[in-house]
Amino acid sequence: MLEPSKLAELRAELEQQRENLRKEIVEQGGDPDSDDAAIDVERGFADSAHSTAERARLLSVMKALRSNLRWVDRALTKMELGTYGTCERCGNPIGLERLEALPWAILCIDCKQKGEGR
Ligand SMILES: [Zn+2]
Repeated sequence: MLEPSKLAELRAELEQQRENLRKEIVEQGGDPDSDDAAIDVERGFADSAHSTAERARLLSVMKALRSNLRWVDRALTKMELGTYGTCERCGNPIGLERLEALPWAILCIDCKQKGEGR
């Protein structure tokens, strides 16, 4: 199990990350609480004359930001539930080194390397 001090450190990092991602989504004209990146892009472009290519680029940026945000949210939820640091697939500890490198990891390195999920 993770030490409370280490857990607090990782939580602070996740919260910082969530803050950054939400800010970035807003900067791109999106709504971080909405689930539909396409709607954001349409809304953002409603009164401008951007090209289709730019639209597509923004859509993929939005999707990436949102998917990262979801992983971060999920890790924070797991902290609430007390299951943080445990692999969602096999139930083994994820390992501190991996969590420090990737605080939103939800699979242990073995499961990750098997190529299932993230
Ligand atoms: Zn695993």
